Amino acid sequence: MKIRLGLLYGGKSAEHKVSMQTALAVIKALDASKFDIHPIYINEEGQWIKGPQLEGPVDSVKQLEFGANEGAIEATGFNSIVAQDSSEGFDVVFPLLHGPNGEDGTVQGLLELLNIPYVGNGVLASSAGMDKVIMKNIFAQAGLTQVGYSSYLRSEYTGNEEAVCDEVEKEIGYPCFVKPANLGSSVGISKADNREELLAAFAEAFQFDRKVIIEEGVKAREVELGVIGNDHPEVSVAGEIIPKKDFYDYKAKYEDGDTALVIPAELTEEEYANLKEMAVKAYKALDCSGLVRADFFLTGDGKAYINEVNTMPGFTPFSMFPLLWKHTGVDYPELIEKLIQLALDRHAEKQ
Ligand code: ADP
Ligand code: MG
Ligand code: MG
Repeated sequence: MKIRLGLLYGGKSAEHKVSMQTALAVIKALDASKFDIHPIYINEEGQWIKGPQLEGPVDSVKQLEFGANEGAIEATGFNSIVAQDSSEGFDVVFPLLHGPNGEDGTVQGLLELLNIPYVGNGVLASSAGMDKVIMKNIFAQAGLTQVGYSSYLRSEYTGNEEAVCDEVEKEIGYPCFVKPANLGSSVGISKADNREELLAAFAEAFQFDRKVIIEEGVKAREVELGVIGNDHPEVSVAGEIIPKKDFYDYKAKYEDGDTALVIPAELTEEEYANLKEMAVKAYKALDCSGLVRADFFLTGDGKAYINEVNTMPGFTPFSMFPLLWKHTGVDYPELIEKLIQLALDRHAEKQ
């Protein structure tokens, strides 16, 4: 019997297009004799649309206008699609979604309510991983080394700008990074080297979130590790990002495409062992399951700081996470099958 796989992709986020490309790659990689794939597209307005199989390049997918296709179902809500299909029985759903309303526990909660196994992290790890302040508080409690940070709500900042900046200068200093607490893909993030830039950075970040995090800026190498598993996580080799710019911003991530990835990263055995241990500690601290990409800063003095974990990391065949696993000996189709198996195992464990 084939496994009925619901593939959720697109989504109302900055990574909409990336998710579409990933979905196409996943469909191509899956063994059609083992999986019966049901793609569910979430458009940029947040509508869930069940359409035909993705086949061509992503740009033509848009032209397909799923709703207009014969046999396609269009719905403004998720329930008619997922519930309808789940009555026939999805064996597992793969939420290939990044950022808010996808990677943050909301979709995971829906799938929990429908009692459908799904790939990746559960509600708690997904939502805690989406909020950089909560994530860092949990990491601090686990004893993980991080850069100094503080956070403000829009309501605390507004009308108090200069006093807040005084506090940031005293507690964090320059350079600092100002980020919306609940986003990803570098959206709304700026580096500030002085008061003027700090004020601008706050204004920018508060456009995206009511909560902002300010971090000590470090000059460091950026090294990432992949983790997969449930109760017994396994860690990949390490990879390094070499951004061509000042930092790894949105444009560098998705538009320029010339950021170099070095896999495996050049590290001493001790450095790698330490990162591996920190990655597992972070995974356990957030109670992760399925997968994460754990991102670190490595400073010149050899000190490692955890920056974040991403609970649904970039997943095209050319993204860091799949490439890390490829170098570890797990190729793309095998990685996807492993994640699906982990989803089924986790679901069985819960019962
Ligand atoms: P996102 O979740 O959007 O990827 P990150 O916290 O990873 O956000 O920040 C994006 C990028 O900004 C990082 O990959 C790094 O290049 C740079 N950056 C973020 N925080 C710091 C920091 N504290 N010190 C130095 N560089 C940073
Ligand atoms: Mg992130
Ligand atoms: Mg990041």
